[in-house]
Amino acid sequence: MTDVPYEEWRARAAGLVPHTGHHIGGEFTGTAATPVVSPRDGKTIAHVASAGRPEVDAAVAAARRAFDTGPWPRLAPAERKAALLRWADLIERDRSTIALLISLEMGKPISESYGIELRAVINCVRWYAEAADKQLDESPRTGGSSLALVTREPVGVVAAVVPWNFPLTMAAWKIAPALASGCTAVLKPAEESPLSALHLAALAAEAGLPPGVFNVVNGPGEVAGRALGEHPDVDVLAFTGSTEVGRHFLRYAAGSNLKRVWLELGGKSPNIILPDAPDLDAAADTAAWGIFFNAGEMCTAPSRLLVHRSIASRVVDRVVARAESLRTGDPLDPSTEMGPLVSLSHHARVMSHIQAAKSDGARLRTGATADGRFIAPTVFDQVKPDMRLAREEVFGPVLAVLEFDSVDEAITLANDTDYGLAAAVWTSDLSTAHKVSRSLRAGTVWVNCYEEGDMSVPFGGVKQSGHGRDKSLHALDKYTDLKTTWIEL
Ligand code: NAP
Ligand code: MG
Repeated sequence: MTDVPYEEWRARAAGLVPHTGHHIGGEFTGTAATPVVSPRDGKTIAHVASAGRPEVDAAVAAARRAFDTGPWPRLAPAERKAALLRWADLIERDRSTIALLISLEMGKPISESYGIELRAVINCVRWYAEAADKQLDESPRTGGSSLALVTREPVGVVAAVVPWNFPLTMAAWKIAPALASGCTAVLKPAEESPLSALHLAALAAEAGLPPGVFNVVNGPGEVAGRALGEHPDVDVLAFTGSTEVGRHFLRYAAGSNLKRVWLELGGKSPNIILPDAPDLDAAADTAAWGIFFNAGEMCTAPSRLLVHRSIASRVVDRVVARAESLRTGDPLDPSTEMGPLVSLSHHARVMSHIQAAKSDGARLRTGATADGRFIAPTVFDQVKPDMRLAREEVFGPVLAVLEFDSVDEAITLANDTDYGLAAAVWTSDLSTAHKVSRSLRAGTVWVNCYEEGDMSVPFGGVKQSGHGRDKSLHALDKYTDLKTTWIEL
């Protein structure tokens, strides 16, 4: 993924000078006052400005002006495409710097921020840039004396509020289709991960995106996120984060201008392994990789492993062996497979789930130990459906194993959750695969794989995992309105 050696990453980290203001109307502003602490070593990497209502008002006003009177929504789509492609090229030019910022601010291994996250971000911006000039409007056949046009118009000012776990991928999934549609945007990154977002904003300006088209404000969710959620001049609010905060955004919208709110929320995704899986070892390896990838800080993490009783011990033994062989360490070491958790408060939350699993009577197979900011990859089996570990999202490297005796029981267990983000089934039987997929209430169902995808396929949840769809051409619908023009001839 990256052939830059460990020492070189550390040297580059020591020499980094991150952007620290808000980015409003094409310029950095604000006094850097709030520390950004690296989960790597607990050291402060930078101070950033923190927005109150006045700074949020300024960012929304800049986006409003850029939308109402600026060139961006009025450009030919091909010109927006060209600007977004220039932006993607600059992100690629600065790929190592941005990857480093992500690893420093939220602790994921550098090989993954460089190889996975930055690849996704660059690809996403290019994909929506290319989509910009390939959309068609409609003209229904209404009859001889009229002409009807159904055109898509950009919704206006989009605010995006995103989490820290995939800080730039989550941002790009919203910002790229919004800008490609002709909207202008204000991004509020999570407090833990403002630095990568600010670098993105600097590159947008360098790419020649007009001032105010893409703005970034930092600050705590309860202040800056809330101010965006309640703002009368924000037309659409696109959110990725916890289900609890998603509820707040619906309330903010109801209490203000009824802005449209798109929610991508949490999950407790079931991963069903049937005895006829094409390769049980591959299924077990993928189950382990899935829950420990990104230290389990994944909305789609396969956090409930549902395994047929007849193969449970074989599969779980292998998952445990994989857990014990994972290399945890410094995120800047390219050989590190799992980094620390994002913050001490999140670490404490994950440990409380581990404690609850123990006291609820689940059997600890491996892990559960904390070392500084790390938590060892953890596997519990003999988990019962009513235990907290089977029901609540942990967002950490903790797997719950439940056993079943029939496919029907597996489906019932899988759907026994408030969430519906993702699910998987492992089987060699085509009919079983389709039947189980149809029965699972989830936005994505993987068959004989996990976390596979492409920009061309939609991503999002059902039930309390939310309702918006990021990625794919469908995401453009969130940032456009249909206008009907009826002409009587
Ligand atoms: P979070 O606490 O919900 O925060 C997400 C964002 O909302 C942050 O920018 C946060 O700002 C802001 N926020 C917090 N409280 C707010 C409030 N009262 N009003 C307005 N904004 C507020 O989630 P997180 O801890 O960052 O991320 C973990 C969660 O994200 C998990 O539940 C995970 O499943 C979910 N997630 C979902 C997806 C998906 O696509 N479905 C993808 C990734 C993550 P501050 O943190 O700066 O306060
Ligand atoms: Mg937070």
